[in-house]
Amino acid sequence: MSHTLESPLLETLRAEYVALRERGLSLDLTRGKPSAAQLDLSNALLDLDLGADHRDAAGTDLRNYGGGDGLLELRRIFAELLGIPVAQLLAGNNASLQMMHDVVVHALLHGVPGGEPWVGRDAVFLCPSPGYDRHFAITQALGIRMVSIPYLADGSLDLPSIERHLADPAVKGMWLVPQYANPTGSSVDETTARALAAMPAAADDFRIFWDNAYAVHHLTDDEPAPLDILGLAAEAGHPDRFFVFASTSKITQAGAGVAFFASSPANIDWYRHHTSVQTIGPDKLNQLRHARFFGDAEGVRAHMRAHRALLAPKFALVERILGERLTGHATWTHPTGGYFVTVYAPARTATRAVELAKSIGVAVTPAGAAYPYDDDPHDSVIRIAPSMPPEADLAQAIEALCVCVLLAEAELGA
Ligand code: PMP
Repeated sequence: MSHTLESPLLETLRAEYVALRERGLSLDLTRGKPSAAQLDLSNALLDLDLGADHRDAAGTDLRNYGGGDGLLELRRIFAELLGIPVAQLLAGNNASLQMMHDVVVHALLHGVPGGEPWVGRDAVFLCPSPGYDRHFAITQALGIRMVSIPYLADGSLDLPSIERHLADPAVKGMWLVPQYANPTGSSVDETTARALAAMPAAADDFRIFWDNAYAVHHLTDDEPAPLDILGLAAEAGHPDRFFVFASTSKITQAGAGVAFFASSPANIDWYRHHTSVQTIGPDKLNQLRHARFFGDAEGVRAHMRAHRALLAPKFALVERILGERLTGHATWTHPTGGYFVTVYAPARTATRAVELAKSIGVAVTPAGAAYPYDDDPHDSVIRIAPSMPPEADLAQAIEALCVCVLLAEAELGA
């Protein structure tokens, strides 16, 4: 189409886009990394000197091998925060994602309690979507078939669809971020949790990977206590259904924190057995540093409020700009915790909008990444991670992204 025939709107947006390109931006909204100011909140961890006192409360020298369950003092703190009995919560190394990967591998090779190895048969994971791309990367890499379960319009899980799929014995697992989900910010309420715990499943060895990565990452005064998911599961007669994961990655230092695994006594024994083949014990000195740094559960809560003071203004900024620029064109989530805002751009524009943004120096998570096999059926979802850039950069990046969404929409109509 020749330039002269273009609609005035398209022309205006093109001009805005060219002006943005001339600014030579270099901005990144891709990964939900804590900002430097957030990381500074935990600098005391770097200065903690364990030289004089490297024993736990029971007097064990933590410089040595052993202690596979993790440091009891730290497990107590996170047992309280996650609402899990301490005997059912283990502290490990630096990455919950690695635990999730290893649990899937153990399940594939050895089977979970009460089941045969998943390998060599059609094994399926249900994937509420939009979801966390790195979850989907694990199951894809390990040859597990993924089935996308779109969230309902109100952001809740499609329980009837999940229940229908569970009639298929091939369905062995489900990914789920129960609190402030990545990327929708939605949380599972108690009724939904009870339904998930009680739902009949054709596979006795069906497991829900309950990744509570954002359990304490509140952005408002409302600080809901975690659901007692293991208690609910036991009550419902499926005590072994949930594998629970969490970590301090977005509490202290991302990649240098402590990860946690929790489950039923039978699953904990199973996990202990397999990890004892992999390692002679986790990094207990890092666990000790974390226990000393926090002191107690209230110490973690206070620390998270300091994160909130840095993060909440950024989320408010994103909300304001999206409201100004995209009202009537797109919808988006209004998270009260976690790390992400999901924009639902007009259908068939997300890929183009992300591509337009990239060409003017604004990096956004690839369109489709929040779906299994990168397949967003409406090509609509764009994930925004506001934590990392300083506010001035964030404002520029969101403004630019909005222009790209509008331009992609206008091109479609042209
Ligand atoms: N789960 C979710 C839902 C996440 O968003 C992230 C970090 N982006 C992780 C797990 C990674 O956690 P870790 O650093 O403990 O591997």
